[in-house]
Amino acid sequence: RVIKVYVKPLYRGDIKTGIVIVHRDITWEYEVDKMKSEFVSTVSHELRTPLASVLGFTELMLNRELKPERQKKYLTTIYQEAKRLTSLINDFLDVQRMEAEKQAYDKKYEDIIPLIRNVIDIQQVQTSKHQINLISNTENTMILGDKHKITQVINNLLSNAMKYSPDGGDIGITVYEEGPVLKVDIRDEGLGIPADAIDKLFTKFYRVDNSDRRQIGGTGLGLVIVKEIMQAHDGEVTLTSELKKGSTFTISFPLVIGLAAKQNERLISE
Ligand code: ADP
Repeated sequence: RVIKVYVKPLYRGDIKTGIVIVHRDITWEYEVDKMKSEFVSTVSHELRTPLASVLGFTELMLNRELKPERQKKYLTTIYQEAKRLTSLINDFLDVQRMEAEKQAYDKKYEDIIPLIRNVIDIQQVQTSKHQINLISNTENTMILGDKHKITQVINNLLSNAMKYSPDGGDIGITVYEEGPVLKVDIRDEGLGIPADAIDKLFTKFYRVDNSDRRQIGGTGLGLVIVKEIMQAHDGEVTLTSELKKGSTFTISFPLVIGLAAKQNERLISE
């Protein structure tokens, strides 16, 4: 813990009669300060790397006569690095925004199935190596949630499932009830996660540093965003994983039953 100690002399007239000692626990302020400066240094480092290659390759193209194949090669790199910059900036902004507006969730009763389907439709067209399957084992697929935030959760988990299974494979999404909870499993047949990394996965900027995934880009923020959003929905995110076999990420929501009654409640309260 970090304690700040103030010592003040006490006077009666001109005579010092004693001292007052005040202890203030500033651990939290200290940690927030530390996190902020770490954040700033990581952000500047992460942004500088792709920017440097965009600049480097543009300079090359401006200053030299290049064959069309070379030009195409450099342009492809510039394009990829610019795309990486965009996704880095989006992740950083999401984390910052999330911290600034913790309360700004617009929760409504939503069926989670169409939300999942929308994400699958967008992601399936980007891959021919993965087959994404959705199964629901329950009729109670309503949640009380912010549609955009939940879409972001599913999007982050599904894009991780694809990104970390570079050789392809099936990705299974299963929706089911377990006690008072509605769960969604997102299962891949990819690289898996080492046991000693599991506890750290939800920490800002943490990325597993195995040789098999060094080439895969990312910020180490996707799962932090998932965890924050799930907590704001009175839910959670958990996972099981086996190295080289695959991973299953599970998100859980409080179960909403008696949909008609809930919808009435909403109509009345609106
Ligand atoms: P990023 O993908 O940007 O690194 P995330 O917060 O989404 O950040 O994930 C943190 C780390 O967890 C990743 O670096 C990756 O090594 C590991 N990881 C996440 N999802 C999976 C998955 N489905 N399979 C294997 N590893 C994963």
